[in-house]
Amino acid sequence: MRYIILIVFLFLVLDNQAQIYCSYSGGGCANGLTPPTQYASNVVSSICNTLGINYISTYAGNVGNACASNYNGTPIITYNVQFMNYLYSHNEWAPISVMAHEVGHHLNGDASWYGAFQHSWTKELRADFVSGYVLYHMGATLNQSKSAFYVMFDWMGSSSHPDTPRRIAALTQGFIRASNGF
Ligand SMILES: [Zn+2]
Repeated sequence: MRYIILIVFLFLVLDNQAQIYCSYSGGGCANGLTPPTQYASNVVSSICNTLGINYISTYAGNVGNACASNYNGTPIITYNVQFMNYLYSHNEWAPISVMAHEVGHHLNGDASWYGAFQHSWTKELRADFVSGYVLYHMGATLNQSKSAFYVMFDWMGSSSHPDTPRRIAALTQGFIRASNGF
């Protein structure tokens, strides 16, 4: 088991997409779509219910980690099974926070034409804010909400994604706003 996790970890570290939650490269987010596990669809259902929005179709797929995109005109979320299992093995809230981040992209319209006019970092930080907001309402502690960031992500930012301290700050803001009844 330890060996398998190491292989998955190395794969993710070597993979160029490893530090990126989301990709908006069109079909790149919709590779090899297969039905989600019951657990994954339940998680996305809970997140959508918490936000009061309709369920967003979710698929397992051949993607780096997780994606929010439009596929045939429909908002979808795609996730990498090994990536989610890896996160889950460290903290059960970690994959939930990633899914909440992806739902947040759709809630914010980031995969629509509207998103094209938003700076990439703005989109990522707002999705992190939603993730913190949702996880508070789902019963996570703040540390559990932040756990995915501590498992494996590079703390350095990139052109598409802000550095991790900034992202943790955005998630924490969402969590605190929710705890204040926002
Ligand atoms: Zn994102």
